[in-house]
Amino acid sequence: LFDALADQAALAIERVQLVADVDRARLAAEADRLRSALLTSISHDLKTPLAAIMGAAGTLRDYSASMPEEDRADLLSTVVDESERLNRFIANLLDMTKIESGATEPNASYNFVGDIVGTALRRAQKILTRHRAVVDIPADLPMLKLDPVLFEQVLFNLLDNAAKYAPANSTILIRARADGRGVLLQVMDEGPGIPSADLERIFDSFYRVRKGDHVRAGTGLGLSICRGFIEAMGGTILATNRADRSGAIFTITMPVPTDAPYAENLT
Ligand code: ADP
Repeated sequence: LFDALADQAALAIERVQLVADVDRARLAAEADRLRSALLTSISHDLKTPLAAIMGAAGTLRDYSASMPEEDRADLLSTVVDESERLNRFIANLLDMTKIESGATEPNASYNFVGDIVGTALRRAQKILTRHRAVVDIPADLPMLKLDPVLFEQVLFNLLDNAAKYAPANSTILIRARADGRGVLLQVMDEGPGIPSADLERIFDSFYRVRKGDHVRAGTGLGLSICRGFIEAMGGTILATNRADRSGAIFTITMPVPTDAPYAENLT
């Protein structure tokens, strides 16, 4: 009996190993596929602005003397804009690696959400020229324990998206409320919204909803950085669509520390 059991056990182990091997092979293939998709996407995102910079710089070098002032200014703008795009992309990639390696340890302190929204809006002024930003944040919200630099980056990414995907002259609403779950901060726009099948996937690195989104200066990294940062600070971030009209809503929920001071009580 013992021998028979031992044989059966040996068979079972062999079968488990076989399954494990197949799984391992499948996982390795999937990792390879992801890695090469990642590299293709990164190469594309680096090459596109670089090609534009090289073209503009080359034209300037060869024809600048005989060129109308207006054309020269246009080409120089291309060089500056595309360099900024490259710079942003590389900054995003570095942020991602920092989160993934755990090197971004949030530097938490007590902050009033309204102050951070104000800073983010000032920083986003240049990209919000075609939109109306409306802020609705009560002054009596509890303070939150968070890293102001990371939180501001999250807001900046959300405002950047709202400005990119919502039409000119539309309103971007930034509002905050405290409820039983914590402090909710929402960024709502009046753009096309997000197909329901994509509401979760947009937080994946390099995921973009529409083919046409590639023509806009974006990396597909913004929202995965947002989620990485918010989760590192103990919060959550979700996307939904507006019920009243078309538009996306991004909701950040942050826990309220039990000993949180209130902004209005601080002198
Ligand atoms: P990027 O904007 O650089 O493509 P993100 O990670 O910030 O990357 O966003 C991922 C995708 O989610 C975008 O490509 C876009 O398809 C969609 N998206 C993000 N924000 C919005 C928004 N406010 N309205 C509509 N679609 C959005």
